[in-house]
Amino acid sequence: MKKITYTLCCCFLAFGLLAQMNTDQANLMAALLGDTPIEEDLQELCDQYGGRVTGTAANAKAVDWGLRKFINAGVAAQKESFQIASLWVENSTIAEVSGAANFTPKVVAKYFSKSTPKEGITAKIIDVGYGTPEDFAKAGAAVKGNFVLVENDLCLDIDGLFVEYANAAKADALAAKAGAIGIINMASRPKKLLYRFIASDGYDHGLINLVMGREDAQRCQRVLRAGGDLDFSATLDVAYTGEQTSHNVIAEIKGYERPEEVVLIGAHLDSWGLGTGANDNGCNVTMMIDIARQMIKMGVKPKRTIRFALWNGEEQGYFGSQGYTQLHQDELDQHIMKMSVDIGSGAIIGFFTNGRPELAKITKEVMKPVAGLGASQVLDLPIVGTDNFDFMLEGVGNLVASHKPFNYGQNYHAESDTYDKVDLAQLKRNSAIVASVALSYANLPEWKVNWKRQTRAEIAKEIVEKHNLEFSMRMFGVWDAWIDGTRGRKE
Ligand SMILES: [Zn+2]
Repeated sequence: MKKITYTLCCCFLAFGLLAQMNTDQANLMAALLGDTPIEEDLQELCDQYGGRVTGTAANAKAVDWGLRKFINAGVAAQKESFQIASLWVENSTIAEVSGAANFTPKVVAKYFSKSTPKEGITAKIIDVGYGTPEDFAKAGAAVKGNFVLVENDLCLDIDGLFVEYANAAKADALAAKAGAIGIINMASRPKKLLYRFIASDGYDHGLINLVMGREDAQRCQRVLRAGGDLDFSATLDVAYTGEQTSHNVIAEIKGYERPEEVVLIGAHLDSWGLGTGANDNGCNVTMMIDIARQMIKMGVKPKRTIRFALWNGEEQGYFGSQGYTQLHQDELDQHIMKMSVDIGSGAIIGFFTNGRPELAKITKEVMKPVAGLGASQVLDLPIVGTDNFDFMLEGVGNLVASHKPFNYGQNYHAESDTYDKVDLAQLKRNSAIVASVALSYANLPEWKVNWKRQTRAEIAKEIVEKHNLEFSMRMFGVWDAWIDGTRGRKE
């Protein structure tokens, strides 16, 4: 019943918009809102390929799956290799709490956590509240050689995620400075749900870094605050390997008028290994495939080339999209817009235009045909944390879709990020929005493309400094690479 109502709504919206757009755009949107294989694709990707951690067999199979989907739809596509600096895999993590309370907590290692010695390690748990400088000052010398327990508030949405990332980065640094051997992060999700974050300082921080089920961590905290002592015994076996080769999938529909100019839209194919990468980011992978497939089916020909990317190595630090900027360096002047879709299946309400006022203006304009689908807002703020990053630092105009939270935050990187959490009806509306905006960019008259690729000096001044990006770039471990020139435009 619900599904019928959605479909009818979509039709009304689509008809209402017909007058405002050209036939190709209207046909493409109607096709995407109608019956397409996107749901079956998503089910296959999530259920058959599961958690697709870059460097694993499941990830390599998912790459071939994505390639096959484009080719079967008649879209030119290929795999493109890139290098990923290092990979980390959790083989096993076992932990016990003992002392004033004795139980087996649910734990998972953060990406880049250190291993323990083979026989495991036992030390005290020290309560450091939220892990602020005052909290660490209060805990004093007790931290040295022990595990710290860091509290987190419940994470309800994407803002909560950023608070958690930011607090973890600060607490990790303080814990390392105070000589802790490990960090136990209280999970921000209820019901002992576990999830994986990346440790802010990469592998070099040298600490054991864990997330503990929320209720288990709260139990520890209560016992400690009631005056009890607790020991924490952990045995972590993680593998850390050097440079690896992995692959993106790149597909394209050539432009008929200015084929050398590119509008690039993409979503990352890889996921963490706990859930099956549904809202992050399988749903938007299937969106890319569905848009390309419907363009071919409807005979939609863009003026400029539309390229579709299924990025890989995103979760480890956007290595696939970085690799693309290196491989396609000579073409970047001709990339007029790059769009990332990576915030789940909540309604797209507009786009982040990443500190580029010219793009903010045009994006507002090209969203007019999709205002009826709910997309009309422009936020001209730079996003650090997904595949737009290296394009932003290469001076290429870039967008990131902005979504209503839906259930993205609660299931983010968690065991519960599975097919059933995706809003399938909304995913189709989002596909129509993304397709319409991409096609509008690809068909813009030349005189309207009034922005250029920024130079390194412009990027440094107008993006990095103006928007104070140093902290968030450090938080995601990508600051040093910008400063030493391994990432971003050279001049
Ligand atoms: Zn993602």
